[in-house]
Amino acid sequence: MPQLAATPVLKRLRAHVATLRRVMGSKAGLIGSDYATRDEAWDMLEGLFSPFAHGLTAAAIVLLTWYNWYAHGTLSSVPAAVIVVATFSLRLWFVRRYRARGPDARVSDWVKLVEKSSFIAALGWGSSLSILILTTEGPARYAVFALICAPIQGVTARAYAMPSVVIVHISIVLAMVSITSTGFGIPIAIPFALLYLWYQIGFVLELVALRTRMLKANHDKRALLGQVTRYNADLAIMNERLSTFALTDGLTGVSNRRDFDQKLKRCLIERDETAAVALLLIDVDHFKRFNDTFGHLVGDECLKLVAAAIRDIGRDRDGAARYGGEEFALILPDTDRTEALAIAEQVRCAVETMDCSALAGPGTRLTVSIGVGLAAAGSDISPRELVEAADCALYLAKQNGRNCVGDDLTVGSVTQQRIA
Ligand code: GH3
Ligand code: MG
Ligand code: MG
Repeated sequence: MPQLAATPVLKRLRAHVATLRRVMGSKAGLIGSDYATRDEAWDMLEGLFSPFAHGLTAAAIVLLTWYNWYAHGTLSSVPAAVIVVATFSLRLWFVRRYRARGPDARVSDWVKLVEKSSFIAALGWGSSLSILILTTEGPARYAVFALICAPIQGVTARAYAMPSVVIVHISIVLAMVSITSTGFGIPIAIPFALLYLWYQIGFVLELVALRTRMLKANHDKRALLGQVTRYNADLAIMNERLSTFALTDGLTGVSNRRDFDQKLKRCLIERDETAAVALLLIDVDHFKRFNDTFGHLVGDECLKLVAAAIRDIGRDRDGAARYGGEEFALILPDTDRTEALAIAEQVRCAVETMDCSALAGPGTRLTVSIGVGLAAAGSDISPRELVEAADCALYLAKQNGRNCVGDDLTVGSVTQQRIA
């Protein structure tokens, strides 16, 4: 039965010892340094250097020294005050240097300094408190024993950053004061100090576990945020690609019909009152025959060449598109009739002189017929009407024998011819 009850206690004890060994053997310097950012590391060191608790305890030791002199007329406690004031001054000097550190300061250098300053402080506290044990008379001695706990508690509370340093620190202080107390005739001090040390170590380990969890949670949060930001950037790129894909003709690489419709509408809505907009509808002549002769794959390659020629002749502001099948369009914003006819003629010539011999054999020639539609400056023409006008002009060009440019000035008569 007692064996059963002892099992969980032993288990806990073993777990404690294992964690303690891990913490003491850690070479990481600051606890959680795997997860902490540079700023978090500096914050932890700032906490370790804080002189507040140190100052209060030093003041209490000086007060006890004064009390010994005042109540018992002895100056034997003065060395305790001198040592603690010197230790405290050293701490203040460390703090000043720490706060004045330059931008190139390295956390690892300051971690080493903390280790050294903690060791010096432990010797200072230990000897100062030991002197007080030996020199304080009467009931004031109880105050000395209460005072021993103060720096130990203060140091433990900041243990989360450098637990091994803190454990060494409190071990030194407790060892010094318990040995002195034993020498002074209070042998219970040693087991009492050991129990107190064990209690403090448990506390340190709990703080370390909490702090590590918090730093890891922060670290994971930052990593997740970074991942979400990266995903968002990737998503934006994909969306950009998708929208380009959705508006581009797969075969020829110029705008597709959807993009053409949007661009023409935008162009007519956004145009200046004084600006004319022209539209070329370009149809490859006898392309069915071409396909029948050379095959559709060769036809495809030739369509690519025609599209490239149209795009090359178009200016930056112009919009080349595949209207459908072997028909292309070129939107010419801010362009009058004369300019539009000139550009149409350039396209016609470019296709006529295009070299298709590598694809379809020597001497093979492709031609296009082009219809020019015009939305005159200040006119209230819709996209549909403009396409109709260009289409009628294209019909006229076909009627005129192909490989030529038709003008929508004659739209009325052509439309009548078609209807007839
Ligand atoms: P016209 O001079 O009167 O325009 O005669 P056409 O033969 O060019 O006109 P038609 O409308 O009779 O034929 C168009 C041809 O264009 C038929 C079709 O096979 C071909 N075509 C349409 N789209 C493609 C394509 O993506 N690739 C290929 N290779 N051919 C296409
Ligand atoms: Mg056609
Ligand atoms: Mg055709």
